[in-house]
Amino acid sequence: MTQLSRRTFLGYAALSSAAAYGLTTVSARPARAADAEAGLPDFSPAVVVGTGYGAAVTALRLGEAGIPTVMLEMGKLWDTPADDGSMYSSMLSPDHRAMWLKDRTEMPLASFLWLDINRRVGRHTGVLDRVHYGDMSVYLGRGVGGGSLVNGAMAVTPRRSYFEEILPDVDADEMYATYFPRANRELGVNDIDPEWFEECDAYQYARVARKHAERAGYRTVFVPSVYDFDYMRREEAGECRGRRWPRRSSSATTTASCRWTRPTSPPRSARAT
Ligand SMILES: Cc1cc2nc3c(=O)[nH]c(=O)nc-3n(C[C@H](O)[C@H](O)[C@H](O)COP(=O)(O)OP(=O)(O)OC[C@H]3O[C@@H](n4cnc5c(N)ncnc54)[C@H](O)[C@@H]3O)c2cc1C
Repeated sequence: MTQLSRRTFLGYAALSSAAAYGLTTVSARPARAADAEAGLPDFSPAVVVGTGYGAAVTALRLGEAGIPTVMLEMGKLWDTPADDGSMYSSMLSPDHRAMWLKDRTEMPLASFLWLDINRRVGRHTGVLDRVHYGDMSVYLGRGVGGGSLVNGAMAVTPRRSYFEEILPDVDADEMYATYFPRANRELGVNDIDPEWFEECDAYQYARVARKHAERAGYRTVFVPSVYDFDYMRREEAGECRGRRWPRRSSSATTTASCRWTRPTSPPRSARAT
């Protein structure tokens, strides 16, 4: 059976959520006007721009309401490994797959110990964009699946006081009683076992980072995640296998795909409300 990585799977999630009710047109081919081969209709009563979380749920709801919908995505469908056998370039050796139409990578820190850590990469429709707005820059995932292609899967329910301050018009009672618990449940949000964290190989660099953060006077906390920590434990114990990322470059990238290598049910992201 072909195994899908988490990222590929989430990409398909966006498409399949739209197609869930058989009412929505999806195509992995590049969109061209009147591309009959791609199955795009001449007319669609609804068009959803993008295929991130928001777009996926919007298209799902439109499909549920019986409204034929076309989803448009400016980025690629990341479903085919390159010649090196990987879908994406690694963090330590980025190439043209890394950035959206940029000649160089744009790391959050441009230099480390006065060394330029950015690399030249071929200009290409890569997976990560960085958009600059005056004194603020924003990273974005580009491709079918949007931010799910690149994000860290941290699943933090905001402190209620913050939520109420930032979104005073939204019913916080309903959010905290119904929607946050439902989203956490649907996404399989879980916590790391702190004892395992202290001893496992995968998090050795996180432990070093924590030590230095503490030396600098910072406190660290564990955050819930949608990565399946149980699967990660089993992977470390050699009971199952993740994708062949550079094994110890980062615990997150090493284990990111574990949860999604064996999809058994409809994509969870497509069902989040
Ligand atoms: C590096 C990184 C790490 C993150 N880590 C976390 C985390 O750990 N936990 C967490 O909760 N959140 C995290 N996030 C944030 C999270 O991924 C975003 O909040 C989320 O993806 C936003 O969803 P969205 O549907 O609004 O848009 P997006 O997921 O950004 O999707 C938008 C999609 O629309 C496409 N698009 C945009 N304009 C057009 C157009 N004109 N035509 C066609 N297509 C278009 C884009 O290419 C993209 O695919 C992270 C984000 C990044 C970039």
